[in-house]
Amino acid sequence: MIIAIDGPAASGKSTVARALAARLGAHYLDTGAMYRAVALKALRSGVALDDRASLGALARDVNITFEHEGDSPVPTSVLLDGEDVTADIRTPAVDEAVSPVASAPEVRAAMVPVQHAAAAGPHDVVVEGRDIGTVVFPEAGVKVFLTASAEERARRRHSELSGRGVEVAAEAVRTGLERRDEADSTREAAPLVPAHDAVHVDTTGLAIDEVVEVIAGLVTEVR
Ligand code: C5P
Repeated sequence: MIIAIDGPAASGKSTVARALAARLGAHYLDTGAMYRAVALKALRSGVALDDRASLGALARDVNITFEHEGDSPVPTSVLLDGEDVTADIRTPAVDEAVSPVASAPEVRAAMVPVQHAAAAGPHDVVVEGRDIGTVVFPEAGVKVFLTASAEERARRRHSELSGRGVEVAAEAVRTGLERRDEADSTREAAPLVPAHDAVHVDTTGLAIDEVVEVIAGLVTEVR
């Protein structure tokens, strides 16, 4: 079964999706990490972020893989053309560049088949992103649209960045998230919108375990 988890930036998708995958013994696919890897490559290659044709060529050429520790089905590292870029794709520079890159239909056309291939197989897969329930896996068995208040999302992202030693003013974090959500929601190609059949879960004030419990309950219901 595919379990699709979509929602705005810092709504808790990654934390919840990883914990859910671990609980269900499912695989996990972070499609945001893939767009981030393409954005990082674009920044490094000096490709203009509005040059759709070159971004498309770059995305078709890139090799993005996920590395697992031991037999864990949940990956711990992201590799870009064989290089570990797990930390490099989570910098403020990539945060800024990723929405323009991901808005290019040429980039999305290159990524979606890779996402289909990554999720293929007999196992359950928790897939997180922006367009998973609408475009990538419209037939997903469970679709969740995760949200949280703007304050809570900014607070979470700020403390996550501080935890990694990246010091950014709280206000800048908040405006950065707002800008990214606005760009992701209003783009023409596969915008961030809830699927008509998605279950909305507001994670504001909820513990991770509580959110995981709700989604695991939805999975049990459809089995
Ligand atoms: O999930 P994360 O915040 O890491 O995603 C980074 C960016 O990648 C998003 O802001 C969005 O622009 C893009 N993205 C996308 N489609 C997805 C996943 C992410 O366009 N399925």
